Amino acid sequence: VSTANDSSADCEAPPPSGELEEDNVAYFINKKLHVWCKQPRGKWELGTILSTSGEEASVSHSNGNIMKVARSELLPANPDILDGVEDLIQLSYLNEPSVLHNLQFRYSQDMIYSKAGPILIALNPFKDGQIYGNDYISAYRQKLMDSPHVYAMADAAYNEMMRDEANQSIIISGESGSGKTETAKIAMQYLAALGGGCCGIENEVLQTNFILEAFGNAKTSRNDNSSRFGKLIEIHFSTMGKICGAKLQTFLLEKSRVVQLASGERSYHIFYQLCAGSSSDLKERLNLRAASEYKYLNQSDCMTIDGVDDANKFHMLMKALDVIRMCKDDQELAFKMLAAILWLGNISFQETDNENNIEVVNDEAVTTAAFLMGCSSKELMEALSTHKIQAGRDTITKRLTLRQAIDARDALAKFIYASLFDWLVEQVNKSLEVGKRRTGRSISILDIYGFESFQNNSFEQFCINYANERLQQHFNRHLFKLEQEDYELDGIDWTKVDFEDNQVCLDLFEKKPLGLFSLLDEESNFPRATDLTLANKLKQHLHANPCFKGERGRAFSVCHYAGEVLYDTSGFLEKNRDPLPSDSIQLLSSCSCELLQLFSTTLNQSQKQSNSCYGGALDSQKQSVGTKFKGQLFKLMHQLESTTPHFIRCIKPNTKQHPGIYDQDLVLQQLKCCGVLEVVRISRAGYPTRMTHQEFSRRYGFLLSEANTSQDPLSISVAVLQQFNIPPEMYQVGFTKLYLRTGQIGALEDRRKHLL
Ligand code: ADP
Ligand code: MG
Repeated sequence: VSTANDSSADCEAPPPSGELEEDNVAYFINKKLHVWCKQPRGKWELGTILSTSGEEASVSHSNGNIMKVARSELLPANPDILDGVEDLIQLSYLNEPSVLHNLQFRYSQDMIYSKAGPILIALNPFKDGQIYGNDYISAYRQKLMDSPHVYAMADAAYNEMMRDEANQSIIISGESGSGKTETAKIAMQYLAALGGGCCGIENEVLQTNFILEAFGNAKTSRNDNSSRFGKLIEIHFSTMGKICGAKLQTFLLEKSRVVQLASGERSYHIFYQLCAGSSSDLKERLNLRAASEYKYLNQSDCMTIDGVDDANKFHMLMKALDVIRMCKDDQELAFKMLAAILWLGNISFQETDNENNIEVVNDEAVTTAAFLMGCSSKELMEALSTHKIQAGRDTITKRLTLRQAIDARDALAKFIYASLFDWLVEQVNKSLEVGKRRTGRSISILDIYGFESFQNNSFEQFCINYANERLQQHFNRHLFKLEQEDYELDGIDWTKVDFEDNQVCLDLFEKKPLGLFSLLDEESNFPRATDLTLANKLKQHLHANPCFKGERGRAFSVCHYAGEVLYDTSGFLEKNRDPLPSDSIQLLSSCSCELLQLFSTTLNQSQKQSNSCYGGALDSQKQSVGTKFKGQLFKLMHQLESTTPHFIRCIKPNTKQHPGIYDQDLVLQQLKCCGVLEVVRISRAGYPTRMTHQEFSRRYGFLLSEANTSQDPLSISVAVLQQFNIPPEMYQVGFTKLYLRTGQIGALEDRRKHLL
């Protein structure tokens, strides 16, 4: 091993990290290296530093402008040869502008997929690219192509499942409209192509998407086909690797959409499809009108979606229901429930006296709804306008106020829809049921709402962000394990790598009795509690948790891994309780419609279960929405923990849903939220550049000033490191590979270029 040559004037310490530090500014000036320069509007632009004085630097931009900027606003840029690298970890500098630029560079060339270490990043192209279909599937299968792609990831999952006989999961997250559901379908398509050929079940699996989307997707301001529920589909394979069944699980369907719409948004697709596409016979049997005649649908002034033919979709839906072998009677029952919900929404109320008491207007809406539900108009009207209280042997009947009556009507509609959705999922599962011989091989695909932080965050964001916090922990642990394994295998000291842990934030949500969910349930049990008393209670008990911040009035903040979110407790109690009046439950159990009877039995059973779980502690005698969701999530995490995970992060490059537009701020914010920047940070803390001794010595060995007598790649590598004064804390030498911290390879590359 030759000794280090430290006399060369060219050998100033190369930049050690993602930042521009005191001792490497000179290096950047000398070499005229590019830097990122933060513009007043927050955008980053390329430039070169001309000179510095104190904390200020004079920077020349590519357009010829020379500007004075604070040194803190400058970050090193990567050499051009790294433009558009497939894996962000290959970048010498892993700072925000470099990551943003690299993704933008790729996006502009229609390369929508990139990697960040083990994560696949998918930028929504908002246009149909020619990168899917059978040719591509075979190319990835035969390893003729290996650029980042959902197919490549699905292929890896499939191979690992077959090789290790271990269950796999593909975890897809991202914000609304970022492409999660499309990505999940693309992954399923690949797996269906690989695992097809066994009694056509792969087609059934693909058709379930269509059914779920009709009943669980809607047009929102962010996405014309937004899924309003989370889903996990577990695809089972035979020992030969053929699909032999599947199982679906859904989470947290947005029920409020059935009765209330924001302007420009729609309710669930199925309602419009049914109104537009049903035969005249069916219309007659359900007394169905045009969608525009239903209050639940026409309140938002948005009845159609550009480029979507609802009638045609309805025909496709009926075909899909046939494919999963749902009998015509069951299909008709489901449609009947949908019509009943629409007619419920048209039921109106009028005041009977001056004491705010109301009665139901006896019109077509009531008669039709009652007819479809299988009860008398009188029974339905009573359930919606009165409340019966049992007092000893007597029954006291109280008239409802207008507000209470509207709430009772809407609660009934929401309950029927949510139950119908669950029932449908159950039917799909029955049809996809795995054959008797379970092989225990499966790939699960999780399509779940990503972290959300809006101006106004309510109970929905609270639940969603909690779920993401859990998934993030799962992700961190996996990444940590991966790194640890790699380091240990190669004899590297991994204690020098820090990992983020979000347990404190999870404790804030989960701790009993003093956690967000427990306190919320406790308050939900007090009939007189208000959103303000809830907020005060949270502040009183949780202020010591560093992830909690009490805010003014009804608000509080949580410091999530992806940033701080301000929650407004308005509506928390009501949404958590999600009450269905006992009068409605009574009504449902007396209806002649089989489905409604089934729904009310299921409800009674779940109440009994939760009673036994909680010893009747819950006043409402019903599991709260928050607790139910927490339970589902625990089960989900438990399932995922027994799989080898693969992560896909979907990114929405603009909010217009247009191709070709890349909004840096929007992308940056999502990279933060979905933990990509975190991975990048972790990698920066570790040793992201990994090259085998052979690779390294072949590439840089000729830079050695003294001929190296040894031909051994390891000795040559070490000699190179020493000659260029790479500080010992900047690298570790493993058995097979050299591990370098961020930025080190850039300087060597630079030297190499000079000498070539
Ligand atoms: P999410 O499930 O994250 O809310 P979607 O998967 O529904 O988002 O995607 C929203 C829309 O973006 C889709 O309807 C489609 O038009 C477009 N899109 C998403 N991914 C792709 C893709 N890979 N190729 C083409 N278009 C896509
Ligand atoms: Mg979706």
